[in-house]
Amino acid sequence: MKNYLPVRSSNTLNEKSDNLFDCFQLKMLLTIVDRDGTLIEFVTYLGKEEDWKDKTKLNFPVVRLLKYVQDNHLAKIYIVSNQAGVARKYFSCSRVDEINRYINEKLVDLGIRIDGWHYCPDVDNNYTKLHPETDFDIKFVKERTNRKPSINMVLATLNQDNLKLSLFKKIFVIGDAEDDEKLAENLKGMYIDIKEKTYKQLKEEFLAFVNKRKNEEGFSFRE
Ligand SMILES: [Mg+2]
Repeated sequence: MKNYLPVRSSNTLNEKSDNLFDCFQLKMLLTIVDRDGTLIEFVTYLGKEEDWKDKTKLNFPVVRLLKYVQDNHLAKIYIVSNQAGVARKYFSCSRVDEINRYINEKLVDLGIRIDGWHYCPDVDNNYTKLHPETDFDIKFVKERTNRKPSINMVLATLNQDNLKLSLFKKIFVIGDAEDDEKLAENLKGMYIDIKEKTYKQLKEEFLAFVNKRKNEEGFSFRE
């Protein structure tokens, strides 16, 4: 049976719970990965058209990097995505869940385990003002949202796993857009821009970040 990971939306922020890992002071890598244009090839509002499966193509340099990270480092890998297409009435949350499950199954077939999927279907009033031609679904127009570059989706997904940011030795955001870069800044993490990079280049960039300051920290990651 395939390892199906439930997909959760960003509307489920819970109260912080006691953390069983506190006493162990685990020092893992936190790897946050954007979906559209990063994990998969970019398609404008993927899910709007019924042939979305044909258009969902893994971005193999990134997929290989995730496999490398998972196989060689103590790491958690989460997919975090803005999905304004829901607020725009282009597709439902169910469609986003369906696409995420479909991608997850492809990754499972390649031996890649994603620790969680999170997305934000909401937009705020600044966003709607920028797109006056669009008929937004009022249910998904909020005063404040958890859209990237807010760190709220990351905090929520960690919370669901009883983890917190301070448990991680290093934080990476892998993406293709300004929101991803700003998310990395907000997390005090490192940003890997995947645009036009080969697997080899991505891996080199990742290892340069991982090994940075390793002497000062007295801690070395395995190549
Ligand atoms: Mg993107």
